Amino acid sequence: MAEQLNEYQGKATMEKITSLAKRRGFVFQSSEIYGGQSGAWDYGPLGIELKNRIAQVWWKEMTQLHDDIVGLDAAILMHPRTWEASGHVENFTDPLVDCKKCKARFREDQIPEENLAAKKCPECGGELTDTRKFNLMFKTHIGPAEDSANLIYLRPETAQGIYVNYKNIIQSNRMKIPFGIAQIGKAFRNEIVTKNFIFRTCEFEQMEMQYFVKPGTDDEWFNEWRKRRWNYYEKMGVKMDHLRWHQHGPDELAHYAKDAYDIQYLFPMGWRELEGVHNRTDYDLGRHTQYSGKDMQYIDQDNSNERYIPYIIETSAGLTRNVLMILCDAYDEEQVADKGNDDDWRTVLRFHPNLAPVTVAVLPLMKKDGLAELAQDIRQELKEDFATDYDQAGAIGRRYRRQDEAGTPFCITVDYQSKDDTTVTLRFRDSMEQVRIPRAELTARLRQEIKVYKRIK
Ligand code: ATP
Repeated sequence: MAEQLNEYQGKATMEKITSLAKRRGFVFQSSEIYGGQSGAWDYGPLGIELKNRIAQVWWKEMTQLHDDIVGLDAAILMHPRTWEASGHVENFTDPLVDCKKCKARFREDQIPEENLAAKKCPECGGELTDTRKFNLMFKTHIGPAEDSANLIYLRPETAQGIYVNYKNIIQSNRMKIPFGIAQIGKAFRNEIVTKNFIFRTCEFEQMEMQYFVKPGTDDEWFNEWRKRRWNYYEKMGVKMDHLRWHQHGPDELAHYAKDAYDIQYLFPMGWRELEGVHNRTDYDLGRHTQYSGKDMQYIDQDNSNERYIPYIIETSAGLTRNVLMILCDAYDEEQVADKGNDDDWRTVLRFHPNLAPVTVAVLPLMKKDGLAELAQDIRQELKEDFATDYDQAGAIGRRYRRQDEAGTPFCITVDYQSKDDTTVTLRFRDSMEQVRIPRAELTARLRQEIKVYKRIK
């Protein structure tokens, strides 16, 4: 009944996403029993499956589908000179402002201008401190002595692990420019403000691909990678009207960048960065040449041994931020009348089947009369090909709802007829339609449904 709906009904809000994520075991607060650790989150049984699948889809897209891109998994701990060369020791800072009264801490660029001018805390009206630079890298020590000689950083981006290995990879894999190196891994930033659930955290994961090109061809490759990254989200079934480009203005451009565009997503709290596509020029390899003393030039053997430092086009996406995006994008509340009650609602996560933590759930209509055993047997058979779940607890309608809320695209129901004629019911999450099919056709049918999947809402 429309007039009874409050303004949040039917919509994704951060509260709803956070609470669903906890309730269904996608994401938990880190160290919750001790009151929680801000800036860090734990991925539960459904969350790790979703995160792994997003990573797999990205990895396939960026490596398997490209002859000229190879993978890497570099260490989180790197020689500290890396971060001097990259400019992070000097430049990777946020402008920090504190309130003297309520001790709240802000990034200067997130305080309304009038408050900043009047040095007035936007939360309590107290006096603000002067702005000071705060380096976002986590520092620790390697070995037993806590002195500066043993200082080491937790990497704030995965990119540098790729740059320092670029020559190794050319030599070991005989790569020729243009080529790319892809990596997925953890990164750490001592963020001043971590809010909006897993959007901005101190520990997170990135999916980065660095593409090495000949100077002069960089603008062309930059545009090409923008196109490819945009198409990737379309392929994942993301709502394309929730994505847009944002070009960095001169005051936003990082110290190394010639041009940079972010792909922004319309999260419940507004448009925010999801991924960056950057033209990093020859800055990084040039700096590593300078700081390591090693020659980082590429020698083009097909072109009279021409030498140059390649330009780098980077595509840098947050994996954990993609998890949040996919949760928000998939979230739907729908008024349904399938239980004879017009005002019934269901929450459904409309994940693309390639991303869904569980692909198919097998549900016996009853536990008794051999239906449970038959359903288990069917699940056993499907396990080899799909991520499966089994649920025999409660009314069948409730069980469908539970699977809808976990984003399971297909349910198979085993009933008395299944015993007689070896057919089962296949139910589709999005349309709630059901079809009866022979058990023997299940695997092929599911494969086909996944292949041709199109989101209907
Ligand atoms: P911001 O301006 O939001 O701090 P950034 O421009 O510094 O981010 P990049 O250095 O370009 O971010 O990092 C690439 C990607 O890594 C981002 O698009 C985002 O998806 C992810 N990312 C960066 N910082 C965080 C964080 N603190 N928590 C989660 N994901 C992050």
